[in-house]
Amino acid sequence: MADSATDDRAPDPMAIIGLLGGMSWESSASYYQIINREVRARLGGQHSARVLLYSLDFALIAELQRDGRWDEASLLLVDGVRRLVRGGAEVLLLCTNTMHKLADVVARAAGVSLLNIIDVTAAAAARQGLECVGLLGTRYTMEEDFYRGRLCARHGLTVLVPDERGRQLVDDVIYRELCQGVISPQSKQRIEEVIFELGRRGAEGVILGCTELPLLIGPADIPLPILDTTRLHALAAVEAALARTLS
Ligand code: GLU
Repeated sequence: MADSATDDRAPDPMAIIGLLGGMSWESSASYYQIINREVRARLGGQHSARVLLYSLDFALIAELQRDGRWDEASLLLVDGVRRLVRGGAEVLLLCTNTMHKLADVVARAAGVSLLNIIDVTAAAAARQGLECVGLLGTRYTMEEDFYRGRLCARHGLTVLVPDERGRQLVDDVIYRELCQGVISPQSKQRIEEVIFELGRRGAEGVILGCTELPLLIGPADIPLPILDTTRLHALAAVEAALARTLS
């Protein structure tokens, strides 16, 4: 029995991880699993993560993306982040690469800081000594500046993306298959060919810059280092959540 106030104190709990998910939920499930497995691996026994998940309806998000209604999309994300914060979440993640297009706007509007998937991925590339990386993701991620620009300007990486046909293929597989729970061996093979081509063009590693792509492609499939953004982002969240308990 405890005989002092100090002995009665609960151990300082790990920070609560807040996942803004549903983009799509197929990858939110991966985040949840990776985070809990990592906490168990680090703390042992019956330990698991303290997690809040707020999951959006992806049909609406995808429609707003298609229509270019990014302002409305950012309102949904701000609302989602606020719900997580009200629930006590302390380490906040947008569980999608594409919606990092809005990450800075959302963080500012919600008055929070977000664990940025692009920065986490770039840090992993640096740890592996990669200077030139291939980038697969949605068209928004592969073609717009928010992702490639941040990798280049902030992190000094050279970024290669597939040609037009390759980009169309990867984007179609993400939205028409992976975000709808479809895993196709044919698509896997075709995307592997796109990655091989990036390797021939000089990519030293490949960023799976869509959180559903690791459902289809893994390190065993490709002779190049793979940067799995879902895994890296989820592990960074655990690192941040445990920093408090382990420091
Ligand atoms: N989860 C995907 C990503 O990481 C695509 C879905 C979305 O558009 O958010 O980019």
